[in-house]
Amino acid sequence: ALTIGIVGLPNVGKSTLFNALTKNDVLAANYPFATIEPNIGVVNLPDPRLEVLAGIFGSERILPATVSFVDIAGIVRGASEGEGLGNQFLANIREADAIAQVVRGFVDSDVVHVDGAVDPKSDLETIGAELMLADLQTLEKAVTRYEKEVKGRKLDPSVLETAKAAIEALQQGTLLSATSLDLAPLRELGLLTAKPFIFVFNVDESVLTDDAKKAELAALVAPAEAVFLDAKIESELIDLDPEDAAELLASTGQEESGLDQLARVGFQTLGLQTYLTAGPKESRAWTIPQGAKAPQAAGVIHTDFEKGFIKAEIISFDDLVETGSVAEARAKGKARMEGKDYTMQDGDVVEFRFNN
Ligand code: GDP
Repeated sequence: ALTIGIVGLPNVGKSTLFNALTKNDVLAANYPFATIEPNIGVVNLPDPRLEVLAGIFGSERILPATVSFVDIAGIVRGASEGEGLGNQFLANIREADAIAQVVRGFVDSDVVHVDGAVDPKSDLETIGAELMLADLQTLEKAVTRYEKEVKGRKLDPSVLETAKAAIEALQQGTLLSATSLDLAPLRELGLLTAKPFIFVFNVDESVLTDDAKKAELAALVAPAEAVFLDAKIESELIDLDPEDAAELLASTGQEESGLDQLARVGFQTLGLQTYLTAGPKESRAWTIPQGAKAPQAAGVIHTDFEKGFIKAEIISFDDLVETGSVAEARAKGKARMEGKDYTMQDGDVVEFRFNN
């Protein structure tokens, strides 16, 4: 499954956020290095369409798509040199498909800041620099190996050239994701700054409704996505029943919880989309990469569906809602039969036909 690794300096609120993400009782303690073991949390991707489908089909249950988060452990200045939690940290973060960096924006004199002051810009630079140094080390090691392999004619010289160009970019202070290099041949290296990033600003409640302040923080990380939340409020929301949670959210001027936002933005950042299936048993969202063809989508349900794929009957969600039922959608010509070359669209309501 695709996962998003949560990183950030110590004491920025990672554990607090992670508790909320998982409802797990991960230790949230007011000291650095509180989160040492990597932990996985799975959250639902909110999708109001599923409620509507469940209404149309009389489904017994709803199964949303999910986004997985790995809580990776604090990073400190010098992490790339193996200080603090450096090496363990780097091993875990390499496996993540995208990275969510938590940045402290909240002010609280009871909570120590590792670098002495709350300064989001400086925190971003510290982590960015550590990640770039880590990539430099990885690439320099790889280049030594690649040079031998090219000499022995075991490797295409273009791979070595790409690695050298990546080193040059990093030495100039450029994140690999911001270069135009085709990094696909270097995928095995798990380069950190080549991964997609989301920035999670953990801010005081008052900032949640302060658009000017939010724009200022978002500008620090653009074009990457910024999510704003108050980890303390998120951890309270998680323990409330839906009505009380809605009331608390409204009192902070928000329409959507930070976790819902994070799931949504995470899903986009990973390049994913969903298609839907529905029946009396369940209404369900299935996760596929954007651009997936129909047989690949079928394979997410069962590998036999992919192997024996014949065709897919597809009604777009909006058409189904407008017509009110599958029978009516068919009668009105809104149900399409699509073959193996069909590119799935977000919100397709699907029934696969296959041989077994
Ligand atoms: P981590 O080291 O990044 O995992 O940080 P923790 O989640 O352990 O948080 C460090 C301390 O900051 C804890 O005492 C939290 O209760 C507190 N904290 C976390 N988020 C917030 C927040 O949004 N506002 C305030 N005031 N304190 C917070």
